[in-house]
Amino acid sequence: MSSVTDTDAIYTLFTDLPRQGPGSDAATLDVIRRLPPLPDSPTVLDIGCGSGKQTLVLARTLKVRIEAIDVHQPFLDQLQSAAIKEGLAPYIRTRQLSMEALDYAPESIDLIWSEGAVYIMGVSTALRSWLPLLRPGGFFVFSEATWLTENPPPRAAAFFQKCYPQMETVSGNLRRAKAEQYEVLETYPLPAQTWWDGFYKPLQERIEFLRPQAAAWPELAGVIAETEEEISVFSQHSESYGYVFYILRRPAGSPR
Ligand code: SAH
Repeated sequence: MSSVTDTDAIYTLFTDLPRQGPGSDAATLDVIRRLPPLPDSPTVLDIGCGSGKQTLVLARTLKVRIEAIDVHQPFLDQLQSAAIKEGLAPYIRTRQLSMEALDYAPESIDLIWSEGAVYIMGVSTALRSWLPLLRPGGFFVFSEATWLTENPPPRAAAFFQKCYPQMETVSGNLRRAKAEQYEVLETYPLPAQTWWDGFYKPLQERIEFLRPQAAAWPELAGVIAETEEEISVFSQHSESYGYVFYILRRPAGSPR
């Protein structure tokens, strides 16, 4: 869909932000606390980690080794510096790797975490591709933009028809999870205020900072315009969609 220059523009906009999608340390922590206990010395992946706010929470809370995976090296560098600063470096190994080319052994992973990144592959594809990596009884936790109503208002419906037509309701995503043989433990909706505090407010400041540059960079101007539309749709219709965490498990007795 987007050209290379669009990709550059997108990464330019999302550089130097606290996070690259809606979320908060508090929500990550809340969801971690809902997980049943992990085995000793577990293998944990954080896929599409970005600059890694949630990776740091995972490391701080679980105190186990996390493999933090993203394709964009500058985000991984940012995470690495933050981890060093916080004394968490021993827990975090960054890897520049595509989520579509994970090279882990079958049944070797105890927890896959992925905030705001599964949409890149598509929910069903990610569910299907990663199940074999999980040991039976292992967990898959992801957050994903989700319709909170069956009848979205026309403006929100039109916006997502254009930019994410695959977006589902909670029950639609749970159907997808069950169809791929996962057991559903829980869902956890992100409070709407979290979008503003952790994501849209810093994004709006970043847009103002970049606006002069956008005057001479049409792709950046385009990405900014789309992002401003996204924010405006959310400010009007945040009751009809939101981010939801899905806490899933590969059934303990599931066949290879
Ligand atoms: N989890 C972070 C970032 C979410 S944004 C947060 O919640 O703040 C999505 C991330 O996926 C970006 O960091 C982007 O660089 C990364 N990404 C895009 N395509 C990818 C791919 N094919 N494999 C792995 N990561 C990818």
